[in-house]
Amino acid sequence: MENDYITVRMEKQKRIALVAHDNRKQDLINWVNNNKVALNKHFLCGTGTTARLIVEQTELPVVAYNSGPLGGDQQIGCRIVEGKIDFMIFFWDPLEAQPHDPDVKALLRIAALYEIPMATNQSTADFLITSSLLESTYNRRIVNYKKRIVHRTQAFNNNEK
Ligand code: PGA
Repeated sequence: MENDYITVRMEKQKRIALVAHDNRKQDLINWVNNNKVALNKHFLCGTGTTARLIVEQTELPVVAYNSGPLGGDQQIGCRIVEGKIDFMIFFWDPLEAQPHDPDVKALLRIAALYEIPMATNQSTADFLITSSLLESTYNRRIVNYKKRIVHRTQAFNNNEK
């Protein structure tokens, strides 16, 4: 009998997504600057504007996806599903609605589902970046999607009969 959960190994070098809404961008840039040495050991990516500003103001290499409102959050969510991003710092703005709020919610949901270490504010980011686990391998325990698909397919087929 297959397990309900599987483990996904995170390597020592993390693939970190950096995202900030407009009112939080400067806070994220400052945080990245303060943690440059630690972040430099990892692979960094981010939504378009955030990534570009971080590159300009910190000189760290950051791969840029589309701007968030133009699909960047969805691109990051997609890469989480594919196992290509395993860590996220997302300074979202709790005081202002965004045009792409459904995408933001979707990204937060996917990150929670895939057990991504995720900071949505600076204090959590400080705790994550100083964790001894940051530079260790780590096994994330996530839902066994293959098994769920088999069950759902069987349930659908049984209902059809
Ligand atoms: P941006 O996107 O980095 O392109 O501004 C961030 C967001 O709003 O999700």
